[in-house]
Amino acid sequence: MNHEPFDTLAAAYALGALDGEELVEFEAHLAQECARCAVTLRESYEALAALARSAPPAVPPPEVKQALLSRIAAVAPTASPRRERGRGSLPWIAGAAAAAIVAAAFTGAFVAGHYEARLGQTARELTATRQRLEREIAALNDQLAAYRSAADLLRDPATRVVTLRGLGPSPGATGWVIWHQTVGGQLFVANLPPPPPSKTYELWTIGEGAPRPAGVFRVDAEGRATHRVEPVEGGKPVKVFAVTLEPEGGVPAPTGPMVLASAK
Ligand SMILES: [Zn+2]
Repeated sequence: MNHEPFDTLAAAYALGALDGEELVEFEAHLAQECARCAVTLRESYEALAALARSAPPAVPPPEVKQALLSRIAAVAPTASPRRERGRGSLPWIAGAAAAAIVAAAFTGAFVAGHYEARLGQTARELTATRQRLEREIAALNDQLAAYRSAADLLRDPATRVVTLRGLGPSPGATGWVIWHQTVGGQLFVANLPPPPPSKTYELWTIGEGAPRPAGVFRVDAEGRATHRVEPVEGGKPVKVFAVTLEPEGGVPAPTGPMVLASAK
């Protein structure tokens, strides 16, 4: 069978310009895994992608389109060239010209599709940035709440400020607990290196008897931490505040090295 009609159909198919009988016919042909049409389609898609990448989009000016239309009229003078088009009867130039015109029309759509994909990407990046900012704002709000509660505590004459000093593995670390025996308080830490993997820092209050767990806390990349400290049950006094390095999640009694402690 003469393959020539399929060459024209393949070019039009790549542009999405086939419909009706021609589309059915060409898809039936494609289903037979024609290698020649596969090459034509691939080259057409590559050419379209190259057009879409070129900026500004390669759309021919109107006079070019007009010239192409006149040439089609010259080589296919019948009133309805499309209906007259039998297998192999459409001159190559008409097919190419038609493809060029359709390409001009479809390049716009293709370019739009391309930019929509880029816009989608930008939208996803913006969403990620917004989520990161929201997390940062939440962290700042937590910190602000900590400073406010500390400031409120400092207005009460019963509040004291306890200094903690670095020990053992972190001699450069410092800390303060703004402490009110019945209200509780706030721990501030500086220069404490982030804990090793699967470890965490845990605060202890030591008064009468065994040390009481006062919560685990996170250290940021700069070695800073703030941590709310609840009052001891029954408002019992605290003599010493201490921080130890413990397994992730914390433990009910200290097991690891002490990294910060207040003087007795
Ligand atoms: Zn073919």
